[in-house]
Amino acid sequence: MASKRFVINVHNACTQFDQLPGPLSSSALEGDQKQIKGILERLKPSYLPKLREDLRKRLSRFKFQIHEGHLVDRALRRTDVLASSVPPAVLAVYIRTLLNGWPTFRRMRSLASLSLSPSCPFCKKFEDSIEHFAYCPIIRAHYRGNHCAFSCIDQFFALDDLSYPEDTPKLACLLSSVFLARNALIHNPSTHFTPQGLLVAMYSYVYR
Ligand SMILES: [Zn+2]
Repeated sequence: MASKRFVINVHNACTQFDQLPGPLSSSALEGDQKQIKGILERLKPSYLPKLREDLRKRLSRFKFQIHEGHLVDRALRRTDVLASSVPPAVLAVYIRTLLNGWPTFRRMRSLASLSLSPSCPFCKKFEDSIEHFAYCPIIRAHYRGNHCAFSCIDQFFALDDLSYPEDTPKLACLLSSVFLARNALIHNPSTHFTPQGLLVAMYSYVYR
């Protein structure tokens, strides 16, 4: 019943767009995921230009070695690959990363009421930011331990040439594990891990 309400809510939200054709019939409520995908496909022409522009702006803050003109197309191709190869939760973290949507200290520092620690919760030496995570020694050890070394922020975002297409799902799963482990550490600041224990904890967040 809850999932039906979700479909109806998605539909109601989408009817705010002029481009959406006709109301959903009762039979259209069968096969929730298919219906939601269909609704979003019909809306694609209207949201794609804005999505591209948002992506371009958000990605421009990171120092990629990829030419700016290729970044957005490459990012969208990666999301297409991931949509059919990883769980939705992993894809959600990937898109959130592209849009610089992690609740890090760097992003949230103006909200003093949150009282976030400014330090990376993994190495505790550098800033709590996506920019640092791409170079954090603990996170790099986590990737190496999962047979997936990376050397630059391009690979951390799974946007480099070499990681496409075979490594993209693996990189996205590891990225998601970093996101989940960071959330757990931020919400349990008194928990102490040895470096080895931290790697084991991060390993437990990798989707397989
Ligand atoms: Zn760190």
